[in-house]
Amino acid sequence: MITYIGLGSNLYQPAQQLKMALEGIARIPQSELLKVSSFYQSKALTLADSKAQNDYINAVVMLQTDLTAIQLLSELQAIEDQQGRIRTEKWSARTLDLDILLFGEQIIATNSLQVPHTQLAFRNFVIHPLFEIAGDINIPGQGALATLAGQTDWSGLNKLQRDCSHA
Ligand code: ADP
Ligand code: MG
Repeated sequence: MITYIGLGSNLYQPAQQLKMALEGIARIPQSELLKVSSFYQSKALTLADSKAQNDYINAVVMLQTDLTAIQLLSELQAIEDQQGRIRTEKWSARTLDLDILLFGEQIIATNSLQVPHTQLAFRNFVIHPLFEIAGDINIPGQGALATLAGQTDWSGLNKLQRDCSHA
């Protein structure tokens, strides 16, 4: 199965966090990491009067896998747990988010897993990196990704130069 996974972090060094996550994803059994998008910087979505948050770094990868979607979710959660959570007094929040965006053209609607990801169509920091590596795919229930990408603005979003992904 071809699957797309969204990565996000707003740790102090989120690009580093994503790079570590990519290494973890490359080691998922019975799977092969086929494509990695550029890194994108995005403004954290916050309420007007809430405290400012660090910018996010986001990316999307394409993975071929023989695992089931549930098995893949559990591999991704293990990576989040190992690499994505720092525990300090100030910051106990998760710092790495790995979401299954698409799993072939399957529609999965269980308690623990909804695919396509429910927020996929509404998040420019998912749509644009996905379009970069998968320009010609269809999203079940949404139609052509190209159409969706054309309708999705870039507000708060910056595509970083490849070199910046090594920052
Ligand atoms: P969010 O990604 O919405 O910011 P979390 O990562 O904390 O929030 O949510 C984790 C939960 O979301 C997991 O327990 C998982 O069961 C559920 N979930 C449902 N659909 C998906 C999906 N497509 N990818 C990843 N997690 C999912
Ligand atoms: Mg998540």
